[in-house]
Amino acid sequence: MDKHSPRFKSVASVVAYFSILFAATYFILFWQINAQERRIVDQVKQEEFSDASKLLDVFSRHINSRLNTLSQMTFLLSDGELLRQFLEQPKEDSLLLLSDAFRNLLLLELDIESIHLVDLQGKGLLHMKQKGILGSSILETPEDISSELYFHELKMLSMSSVGRYLGGFEKTMLNSLDYRNLALRLVAPVYDGYLPMGYVVVSLAFNKFLRSSLVELGAEHANFMLLNHSGHYLYGVRDDWLFGHELTSRSAYSFQADYPDIWRKVNVDGHDNAVETTQDTHFVFKTLELDLGRDETYETWSLTYFTNKQIDEMTSQELVYFKRWGVLIVLVAFIVAVLGSWMRVRRSKFVELSYMAQATMRSMSPIILIDEFGRVKKINKQFSMILGYGSADIIGITFWNFSDDRNQKVMHDVWDQLQVHGSWEGEVTLFSKEGRKIEGLCHFFSLESNSRKVKGYVGSLVDISAQKALESRLRDLTITDALTGCKNRRFFDNALTNQVENLKRNPRQIFCLGIIDIDYFKRVNDEYGHDVGDEVLQFFVHVVEQEIRAFDLMCRVGGEEFAIILPNTEIEDACLVLERVRLAVASADIQPAITCSVGLIQSELDREPDDLYRWADEMLYRAKQGGRNRVTSCRS
Ligand code: GH3
Ligand code: MG
Ligand code: MG
Repeated sequence: MDKHSPRFKSVASVVAYFSILFAATYFILFWQINAQERRIVDQVKQEEFSDASKLLDVFSRHINSRLNTLSQMTFLLSDGELLRQFLEQPKEDSLLLLSDAFRNLLLLELDIESIHLVDLQGKGLLHMKQKGILGSSILETPEDISSELYFHELKMLSMSSVGRYLGGFEKTMLNSLDYRNLALRLVAPVYDGYLPMGYVVVSLAFNKFLRSSLVELGAEHANFMLLNHSGHYLYGVRDDWLFGHELTSRSAYSFQADYPDIWRKVNVDGHDNAVETTQDTHFVFKTLELDLGRDETYETWSLTYFTNKQIDEMTSQELVYFKRWGVLIVLVAFIVAVLGSWMRVRRSKFVELSYMAQATMRSMSPIILIDEFGRVKKINKQFSMILGYGSADIIGITFWNFSDDRNQKVMHDVWDQLQVHGSWEGEVTLFSKEGRKIEGLCHFFSLESNSRKVKGYVGSLVDISAQKALESRLRDLTITDALTGCKNRRFFDNALTNQVENLKRNPRQIFCLGIIDIDYFKRVNDEYGHDVGDEVLQFFVHVVEQEIRAFDLMCRVGGEEFAIILPNTEIEDACLVLERVRLAVASADIQPAITCSVGLIQSELDREPDDLYRWADEMLYRAKQGGRNRVTSCRS
């Protein structure tokens, strides 16, 4: 397609229009998806914050309630008669019974790491330890803890207590930076009346205890951490942050060291329900007070966190649905744009065609539209005007049948040509309804569907009657003598050549040629003037034409010299005709009177036109020589 053509421009503008529409849809959706993404991210964040806060609350309550339960259990254990008897007088059989009781407790409570029974001097009497996952327990050689740091604390606890009470916690260890032996210990003194006899120490592995608490809450995958007030991890999600025995020193494992800025801010703003955000991590803090019994608490800070990556993962899940719709809408917009462009382009093509068709139908030429079977579908006004047939006469009729017989052959020929070539162009002679002859230039061509199937034909006619008449008139002028109205020399030469050709084809088509010359014509001019000479010439022609036959041809071949071709005539008959001519001229009622001489020959097969003419001229010469006013033929 030409870049500057209007069609290219219209196609380009339609494509541009729909491209912009598509691009706009795409960007609006893109923008909406982004906005939606931001909304979802905010929402997910808020939910996460709120979930985290709730978890920390629930966890705080849950852990203290579990501690209370375990403390109560420890107290019940310390209050046993069997225990008192054993402390008074250790015997082998009561040791076995006591071991069974401790073992049962260990089997029941997997969070308990070990149960210690020590006397007032710190000497270990019985030590049962959790072993293996299924809670089997073993009896270990009781150790002496009198030199251990926590034994003094333990004594302090029992000294400060009044009456029966729940066991306390080993505070010193929780405050220490050296967590080597850190455990959460529940201590219950064994009393004989008001006098202590020894101590039951239930040790909990703190990390295990916290983890099982999280499992019970269904939050084992939460990013949970517990810090002491100096910012060290008491519990963390990473395996090497596990609380207690595995670590020789935890000084390096400090939240304060990992996130100094956050730690500083939290210390200023307060820990409870604090929410802090680094570039890619969001922290939620909560104060968690461990219930130590005896109205004492130990303050820790629990926190959970979530990262932007986690948010992205959660967001992307929610966005999948939204994006799927987005893709669908963009796809639909794309299809609409493509289809729309195509239809607009097609429509513009159709509109152009319809304008063209209208222009054609309103043109000055008669137009006829016929279907593939030759039936007339439509004619324009011009067709009706020129041929005189209206729509009612013609529509639905096969197009060679609508007019009079003279048109039918022409139309049939046109139809046959159309079937073979698909188009036809030529001159036709038609007759209008009123019988007027119309010379026309006719052009028929086929109309094809997109699949190149012929669906019909369009015919146009240009009326060239006037042009044809003019042509014929001009042609007549070139072959007619203006003075006498006879055919001229040019016409004669052609006619003679044709006769010779005919004779060659058919030797029976003999003809005669006569040349007539008026005698002493110069004298007429000289005596009466040139005008009279002209009139005499005209009169002479008139007289001769009366005498020759309809199929004889008379031409003016010189000033007062005429040739007559007598087709299919033998010399004898020709002599008679020309003799009659001579007599008529001689006896014509004209002033001045004239006579004429004639040279006459009969055609011969081997003679060419020039030859024949010379021969006749020779006969004429002889006639003149013989005294004029006579016919001299080749047979005389
Ligand atoms: P001849 O018997 O020998 O034929 O004598 P002629 O006088 O006819 O001699 P010629 O044929 O030589 O002369 C013909 C004359 O015809 C000469 C010319 O003046 C005259 N003529 C030729 N054409 C015309 C014409 O168109 N009009 C008139 N008025 N005279 C013509
Ligand atoms: Mg002459
Ligand atoms: Mg003459």
